[in-house]
Amino acid sequence: MAETTQKVALVTGGSRGIGRACAVALAENGFNVVLSFVSNKSAATEVEKTIQVLERDSLAVQGDVSNAANAQFILDETLNRFGRLDVLVNNAGITRDNLLIRMKDEDWQKVIDTNLTGAFYMTRAASKVMIKQRSGSIVNITSVSGIYGNPGQINYSASKAGLIGMTKSAAKELASRNITVNAVAPGFIVTDMTDGLDTTKVLEHIPLGRLGTSEDIANAVLFLVTSGNYITGQVLQVDGGLVL
Ligand code: NAP
Repeated sequence: MAETTQKVALVTGGSRGIGRACAVALAENGFNVVLSFVSNKSAATEVEKTIQVLERDSLAVQGDVSNAANAQFILDETLNRFGRLDVLVNNAGITRDNLLIRMKDEDWQKVIDTNLTGAFYMTRAASKVMIKQRSGSIVNITSVSGIYGNPGQINYSASKAGLIGMTKSAAKELASRNITVNAVAPGFIVTDMTDGLDTTKVLEHIPLGRLGTSEDIANAVLFLVTSGNYITGQVLQVDGGLVL
């Protein structure tokens, strides 16, 4: 196992969108970064190279976080390469939107498995390492949908609300080991996930008058992991003041 004193961050779903922005921001702030992806190898390789240009070490690992063995593999690869883990950002997530009465069982299950169970597998594996280190910071990317609910997103809202409950319980369990656990709840952020959505109506509900960027979310994550030593169990909404 390689040993290093350089701090190490692991971002799930770091190949695109918010995860990519988090991975790059963490690297810009001195972290070596492992980014996981599920299928988009070329995007992941591009992020890996971008981070290496910043003169930080980077590793892209393929794995489906909703599979317990894959999640453990991502953790093991991180430790094999860097020998430590200081930050986990549970960012990997998907949508399969539909109205409640039309929601298919597989679309319900897929979203819960990826967004909630995936974060559980990663958190369980990462916590074991952080407990031994007696330090660490975990940030879960939830959503305003998990706080307020959103029509057409019964599966997604449930997964993101579950993630908030998980954040608060994990924060209480891990605090005595000097590990913080927080959540960031983005509003509407311009990424592949929201590509194609008609945002005209949404914009009317955002007092700051614009959709969010992935960097807006990365800044909040960075704040929590670099300056948030005394913040745990919290949900930070980053949504331009969105009123749902
Ligand atoms: P995105 O652009 O669609 O990127 C999703 C990322 O997750 C990709 O890196 C993807 O990997 C990865 N991923 C998907 N399924 C996975 C799985 N089973 N295992 C491992 N990785 C997986 O999404 P985004 O908009 O950046 O969203 C990132 C997070 O923010 C999600 O949790 C989302 O729910 C949350 N969020 C987004 C918004 C928004 O407005 N965009 C708002 C609130 C919350 P590949 O590249 O390999 O496909």
